[in-house]
Amino acid sequence: MITTQRSLVVLGAGTAGTMVANKLRHKLPANDWRITVVDKNDIHDYQPGYLFLPFGMNTPQQVRKTKHTFIADGVELVLAEIDMVDPKERTVSLAGGRILVYDYLVIATGTSPRPDQTPGMLGPEWHRSVGEFYTFEGALALRDRLAAFTGGRLVVHITELPIKCPVAPLEFTFLADDYLRRRGLRAQTELVFVTPLDGAFTKPVASRELGNALDERGVTIETDFMIERVDQERKIIVSYDEREVAYDQLVTIPLNMGADFVGRSRLGDELNYVPVDKHTMRSTQYPEIFALGDASNIPTSKAGSVAHFSVEVFVENFLELAAGRPMTHSFDGHANCFVESGGGKALLLDFNYDTEPLTGTFPIPHLGPMHLLKESRANHFGKLAFRHIYWNALLPGRPLGLPPQMSMAGKVPAA
Ligand SMILES: Cc1cc2nc3c(=O)[nH]c(=O)nc-3n(C[C@H](O)[C@H](O)[C@H](O)COP(=O)(O)OP(=O)(O)OC[C@H]3O[C@@H](n4cnc5c(N)ncnc54)[C@H](O)[C@@H]3O)c2cc1C
Repeated sequence: MITTQRSLVVLGAGTAGTMVANKLRHKLPANDWRITVVDKNDIHDYQPGYLFLPFGMNTPQQVRKTKHTFIADGVELVLAEIDMVDPKERTVSLAGGRILVYDYLVIATGTSPRPDQTPGMLGPEWHRSVGEFYTFEGALALRDRLAAFTGGRLVVHITELPIKCPVAPLEFTFLADDYLRRRGLRAQTELVFVTPLDGAFTKPVASRELGNALDERGVTIETDFMIERVDQERKIIVSYDEREVAYDQLVTIPLNMGADFVGRSRLGDELNYVPVDKHTMRSTQYPEIFALGDASNIPTSKAGSVAHFSVEVFVENFLELAAGRPMTHSFDGHANCFVESGGGKALLLDFNYDTEPLTGTFPIPHLGPMHLLKESRANHFGKLAFRHIYWNALLPGRPLGLPPQMSMAGKVPAA
């Protein structure tokens, strides 16, 4: 029997992969389109919750659910490690031998912390005095380490950019400051923020605001630090220019990299990110391949908000493509980043490829209730509430009523 059914294969059932499969399943006729999603396991974590686990602000149960409960009927979820893509044959090989054939492929396999890439980072002290909160296991181990912490040098360290949620290390520092104050340990603790950047953050205006926030909290900042190795015995990190930073407790963000199969399939750059057109997320090498979420090289934050906004644009374009028409929608790099600042407050950053974070209100011009580039309780509650929105609206693919493009209404450039 000759089938005319076309095949869309989505690699990765995380934030972007789940949303895109669900949204398209609701819009593409099942007779015409088969949709398959592949992931290596059935665990879906709400990764922003990793930030809160070490401070007991989220429970493990609040951030971890099964993947299959979020996948729409009519989408096949295949649980297997992806081994290789053959873009010429349009096939994906899975561990175990199964081969999937596609007409269109979406790579949404995200980015992962890779402590194996820095000499000395992995070792007997990994998840002990060398901690991290970019994995579920790491965040829980750090919760126990912080509970037993009695003071000393707490060093928060970024290995290299880009990382997912680039503000998360700053948020961790602010929350640690607050946590240590509440526990009466702040006076005995030297908090140090070590970054490969020349300031607190990548965007100049936000970097100034966030740098001031570190100063106000008495956090020492060590800039331009390109780590060469961790010496677990001497409890120091060493840079290529031979600077040494001592720690009692290190909280490191390891190098982040895209999935290894992307590299093996020659679809990625040196960090295994898929080069794409930044407005359509279409591979620059193969027109039937797209990369969404953290897996691509688009020059904006690697964040769930970017995954969300870019998926909305992609879905509209894909419906045009499926109908044989040119794609007319363009992604502007829009990102929303809540920045927890401790004491029950948070800032909110809103920016895109061309516009620096602005001051003003979000999402309703002049009304808010959230304030941009300013600490407020509303922003903090917005960040906490987002977990419910994520599980109940975003992942199932329900519309949030937020336009994907950044709006300039009610916003003004920061002085
Ligand atoms: C500590 C922390 C805090 C964060 N805070 C925020 C925040 O406040 N706001 C925000 O917007 N974003 C935040 N993020 C970022 C956000 O979680 C990610 O940007 C988002 O999840 C990216 O979605 P994705 O679909 O690209 O990747 P993911 O959601 O990571 O999904 C990738 C999927 O691919 C699968 N996969 C990978 N390789 C393979 C393989 N070889 N075979 C099979 N399956 C594979 C994985 O199992 C995973 O399910 C945070 C992230 C962290 C770590």
